[in-house]
Amino acid sequence: MMEISKRITILGSTGSIGRQSLEVIAACGMEVAALAANSSVKRMEEQARQFKPELAVLADEKAAADLRVRLADTNVRVLSGMGGLIEAATVSSADTAIAALVGMVGLRPTLAAIREGKRIALANKETLVCAGPLVLEEAKDYGARILPVDSEHSALFQSLEGNRDRGEVKRLILTCSGGPFYGKKTEELQGMTREDALQHPNWSMGAKITVDSATLMNKGLEVIEAMHLYHMPVEKISVVIHRESIIHSLVEYCDNAMIAQLGAPDMCLPIQYALTWPKRIASTATTPLDLWNCGTLTFGTPDLDTFRCLALALEAAKTGGTAGAILNGANEAAVAQFLAGEIGFLEIAQRVALAMERVPVVQDPTLNDILEADAAAREAVR
Ligand code: MG
Repeated sequence: MMEISKRITILGSTGSIGRQSLEVIAACGMEVAALAANSSVKRMEEQARQFKPELAVLADEKAAADLRVRLADTNVRVLSGMGGLIEAATVSSADTAIAALVGMVGLRPTLAAIREGKRIALANKETLVCAGPLVLEEAKDYGARILPVDSEHSALFQSLEGNRDRGEVKRLILTCSGGPFYGKKTEELQGMTREDALQHPNWSMGAKITVDSATLMNKGLEVIEAMHLYHMPVEKISVVIHRESIIHSLVEYCDNAMIAQLGAPDMCLPIQYALTWPKRIASTATTPLDLWNCGTLTFGTPDLDTFRCLALALEAAKTGGTAGAILNGANEAAVAQFLAGEIGFLEIAQRVALAMERVPVVQDPTLNDILEADAAAREAVR
């Protein structure tokens, strides 16, 4: 039986998932081997002083140089760049890597950790969206166990436990809060700003994923992620609007039984389960769900005409090959433009659609094909 994680590397430690991961690690008495992030110097310094990793990495060279000075009185080694991220991912004393970097930048470090046979707690959905078959094949070859951290995928994982014959699964149902613009029509979305998009009703998350939640691209990426993780065709994956985020996803079986996982809308539980599976442990990090006071649960159909990003993602899922990498690369570039105030909210979907039209799809792609598709999609958006 697989053991509970003991010593952990966090790729993306200063972000929302990274910080909640450290809460779980502290509550469960686990150790930190390495911490890596993009450029948040102050937060990284605090984390390094508190958790005493052997290695702290900032991808940004200047930020890393600053961190090196700040941590000069400690034993923490400081590295930078993609080389540093990969070194953090492969630190030999770690049995587990939490992959929580945002975006395509997480792909190579995650693959490096997989090749070391580590337990991978996967929060970086772009990795599977862009390179699902490749990543899963490597995981199989190197004996690396991938455990989902995304709340929906953790819920599906938990609802699939005990299932011995995947043929008995009728479909996977991902729940979707609907995001901050739920119920709005296209005309009303015209003038939506960065500030409007960054107000999420239930979850507190980083800027990129919060915008993805507003466009419903996040759910689209999750459909593709689920397709790869659970080897299901996109036709057998459905999305249901569930505003309350209490049911985190469901599996419908061939006899029409539905098995769901419920919990408070709090990422600490899926993070912790990815670190303790196949065991469950009690910890102060996770929040109990007060079922008696959580009110009415509602369900509805997503509006694919208004939230075109979800429709585009379903199309990319059907196309396969590098379509996921094109969708994702275009979306990352368009969301960055939106966050910089350069384009309007509705233009995110328009630019993703444009990239999908312009960039040719390659089937059965190599890693290089995927990286090229990503770059071409970003270029098309610019
Ligand atoms: Mg999610």
